[in-house]
Amino acid sequence: MNSIETFYPLLGKQSKVVITMHQKPDGDAMGSALGLYHFLIRFEHEVTVISPTNWANFLNWMPCVEKVHNYENCSANADKMIEAADWIFCLDFNVLHRTKSMEQSLLKAKAVKILIDHHEQPQTEVFDYGISLTSKSSTCEMIYDFIVGSGNRDKINLDIATCLYTGLMTDTGSFRFPSTTASVHLAVAYFKEIGLNHSIIHEKIYDVNTEDRLHLLGNSLAKRMEVFYEYNAALMAITKADLLKFSAKTGDTEGLVNYLLSIEGIKFGALVIDRDEERKWSFRSKGSFDVNEFARKHFNGGGHKNAAGGHSKDSLEETVRKFKEILLDYAETLR
Ligand code: 5GP
Ligand code: MN
Repeated sequence: MNSIETFYPLLGKQSKVVITMHQKPDGDAMGSALGLYHFLIRFEHEVTVISPTNWANFLNWMPCVEKVHNYENCSANADKMIEAADWIFCLDFNVLHRTKSMEQSLLKAKAVKILIDHHEQPQTEVFDYGISLTSKSSTCEMIYDFIVGSGNRDKINLDIATCLYTGLMTDTGSFRFPSTTASVHLAVAYFKEIGLNHSIIHEKIYDVNTEDRLHLLGNSLAKRMEVFYEYNAALMAITKADLLKFSAKTGDTEGLVNYLLSIEGIKFGALVIDRDEERKWSFRSKGSFDVNEFARKHFNGGGHKNAAGGHSKDSLEETVRKFKEILLDYAETLR
């Protein structure tokens, strides 16, 4: 993988561009993809954003989100665009299988592939250019760096600032996680200088709950949470029946895992959700406990040191049982 700086001179060459991100894109994945979209159209490239799957409704206000294709609804057409692309930007993921059924199409594509991402252990051999920095708060911060690094800061308009602020805000837990560096605040300061209204973005992302979503939260806290004080750990297991009862939509369970870490003294939070095809894990930690390693070792996953995910094909009961058994081995580490 060549360094991202060596890609900068190519930026001016009119190209067909596909931008993609991980399945079920979150604020950072969608924000970085749309932020880069708004930047690249300023060079008159032909730019298409393809999401491997659908996404949460709370992202649907973002500028040009209506132009994003959902691969699951238009795979034949999307495959043609991927095949015809000169460049494919892969954002906020670093292993192709995180694009689910798009993986094969991406592998076959002749396009130059560019990685911009902040997760651990990238599959660097499949990318031609790229940058992978786990020290970065978000992929949105890296898109800001890409724009500034390529000498184009003056091209940042309010659409770009809005999209990038969204990912900076969501991936830093509203600027509270240790990943919130001076560079993060400097990027935000620049967005403010050009006129960004940040409080509207907070409202659009966080103040759009449905009654059902709050009931799901209430039920999860009251009935689905187990705290293991001797391990400084907490678990939440959401059943299929819960998802049905509270009409859960994509994104409705986002943020649930953070409640576990908000319990005093808890350093490791694990949330498992009984999705149709798999049991999906979200792991969060505070301090030195490495959930990326935990997710990789036990639940086919990965991510960052303090935030990772994984999955299991076992039943919910079995995967919870397995988790509790594994936890016994971490008594020392978590104390
Ligand atoms: P979340 O718990 O919000 O789904 O994911 C937490 C972090 O881990 C995110 O940065 C996400 O991209 C990453 N992640 C989630 N699930 C997986 C997975 O199955 N594999 C890998 N490699 N990363 C994941
Ligand atoms: Mn991210």
